[in-house]
Amino acid sequence: MWSRAQSFIDRLLDLQDGCEGEAALLNERFLSLQRQIPWLYGLLLANITGLSISLRDEANSVLNAANFLALMIVGRLVYWIRIRNRVLQQDRVKSELRKTFIVTALLCAAYCWWSLARYHAGDEEARVHIVLFASLAAIGCSFGLSAFVAASRLPLLLIALPISLELLSDGEIAHVGMGASLVLLILLTIRLTSLQNERFTLLVHSRFDVELERRRATVAEATANEEKSRAREIANTDALTSVPNRRAFLASLEALTQTDQSSIAVAILDLDGFKPINDTFGHETGDQVLIEVSARLKQIVTHGSVARLGGDEFALLIPCNDGAEAVAVCEQAIGRISEQFVFGRRRLSLSAAAGVCFTATDAREIAQSLRRADIALYQAKRAGRGQVQLFVEGMDADLQRRTSIEQALREPGVQNGIDLAFQPIVDLRTQELQSFEALARWRHSEFGWISPGEFIPITERISGIEQISDALLARAVAQAARWPASVHLSFNLSAVELCSANSAEKILRIITQGGLDPVRLQVEVTETAFLTDFEMARSNLAQLRSHGIKIVLDDFGSGFASISYLREMAFDAVKLDGSLIISAGKGAGLPLLTGVLSLCEAVGLPCIAEHVENRSHLEMLQGLNCRYGQGYGLGRPMGADAAEHFAWSAPARVKDLFQQVAA
Ligand code: C2E
Ligand code: CA
Ligand code: CA
Repeated sequence: MWSRAQSFIDRLLDLQDGCEGEAALLNERFLSLQRQIPWLYGLLLANITGLSISLRDEANSVLNAANFLALMIVGRLVYWIRIRNRVLQQDRVKSELRKTFIVTALLCAAYCWWSLARYHAGDEEARVHIVLFASLAAIGCSFGLSAFVAASRLPLLLIALPISLELLSDGEIAHVGMGASLVLLILLTIRLTSLQNERFTLLVHSRFDVELERRRATVAEATANEEKSRAREIANTDALTSVPNRRAFLASLEALTQTDQSSIAVAILDLDGFKPINDTFGHETGDQVLIEVSARLKQIVTHGSVARLGGDEFALLIPCNDGAEAVAVCEQAIGRISEQFVFGRRRLSLSAAAGVCFTATDAREIAQSLRRADIALYQAKRAGRGQVQLFVEGMDADLQRRTSIEQALREPGVQNGIDLAFQPIVDLRTQELQSFEALARWRHSEFGWISPGEFIPITERISGIEQISDALLARAVAQAARWPASVHLSFNLSAVELCSANSAEKILRIITQGGLDPVRLQVEVTETAFLTDFEMARSNLAQLRSHGIKIVLDDFGSGFASISYLREMAFDAVKLDGSLIISAGKGAGLPLLTGVLSLCEAVGLPCIAEHVENRSHLEMLQGLNCRYGQGYGLGRPMGADAAEHFAWSAPARVKDLFQQVAA
């Protein structure tokens, strides 16, 4: 009931605050009243005091009403002064406004009653005073309350209007005139206060709209900023693993070059065995592995940062005092990555290699560190699985040399610039020339002579070996066709060739075209070649062997020397690695050489000893019943013409050589 009455009153007094704009208007009205009302009460107090003074000679009990009125006004004045600067809640504002309306009505009614009573009791002069004071009070108060339009009508309707009606009804012409003027003044004041109120409302609304617009702009700006920083975050984060990406890593390195900070190391970590996992189990599993790897790396690199450079390559930024410390962190990281990955029932194993570059505070060095870590990584990968390599000065030069060699090897027709040398292999029992081993010789425009030990592995890696090898074989075959039929050609086959399909057919075609009997060819293969594709190697060798080509296992004793290959592959001879002969020649390695020779004897394979450099080597090998020998002592690699001459003058030449070595 009360609430309905209250909402009715509120509607009447225009106190609704439905929307935000209305609430703001209400607040503005109240703010304006807070400023105006104390002045208004001051005016009213002066007015009543003035009127009382002008009517003082007629003081009677009614004058006490003026005092009472004045007392009420002072009370309200004090109250308004006290709440002058206070910010009030909406409900409180409304209740203050309601109170203001009621108090205004009461005060106006009291003023009216008092002034009319005095009017009736007073003489002509007193009446003029009363009309004047009352009109001024009514108009002044109406203007003072103009921010609260409902209340601003009250002084006009409750004070000025009754007085003007009194004047109009009086009958006296002067009074009627005054009454009519007063009515017009009331109407004018109502109009003016209405206009003022309209302007006030408009002003508040437009101010509110501006404020709203400003707020909207602020919110829009905040949203835009948020979106911008989100976009920045996305651009700098690896979507899969949520660690910083290459771009962010480069930016943080760049930032380090700008600041004066302590020494750091940059490491690049590359996973071994990730591709097969991805290919075999699918990208989903591959993704899981990468996420898990970055999580493990973050556990290890607690003080630095981890980023994914792309694919299966990660970068670490490690604050540390020296390179050894950074290497230790990388080894720990690789250890952690080498632990099994368990996804449901699937268990997977990985390894990794790392290249590290340690840099003291120098900005230029920091800018170089990623490239240097990459160079170190390259070396680490060459060294085998799970290796960590620290960048050292000079690695750059190695890489530059390698890159230049690689570039030169990619050039068309490079095989024409590669020569062949032929080194004799001699039967140690008969002292006859058994064969010539063809060895590649390459002269590089910048680096001079480059050993095949250096350029052949590079050629294999850039998949150019077949083209080069085919050309060399054709030339060697053409050369061998000019030797006596008893002299064989020994030719080195690279791992890539050995393990590529149809290589046997190709070799057979080349030697047929060259007019060499296949039984005069022996191919040298190393056991590391079988690691790539054992079955393919076996099938190629079997095919070659079926045509009478002999297969020699090269470099036996230098690597794993796995006896299982001797059992599983059909070889015709075993070439003992030069290191076995050299160390046996010094005494310490003699038992090993003896053992290896008897092993080969046990499986029925003749041996060729490499690096027979001097007389004692020769005598040692003859004493151990080694069948063949090759080395500087028996003949250095020589040009094609020299080899041809050598071949035709043997066996006399070979016997000469033996005598020279023996002497
Ligand atoms: P390899 O097959 O073990 O060849 C023997 C290497 O030992 C040759 O080095 C030869 O010059 C060297 N040598 C010969 N006698 C002695 C000696 O008494 N003492 C010492 N210290 N060394 C001796 P080269 O010519 O530099 O060849 C290095 C390797 O490059 C070869 O090792 C072979 O694996 C590879 N290679 C050479 N030519 C070819 C080729 O045409 N094709 C392929 N695929 N590989 C080749
Ligand atoms: Ca060889
Ligand atoms: Ca060898």
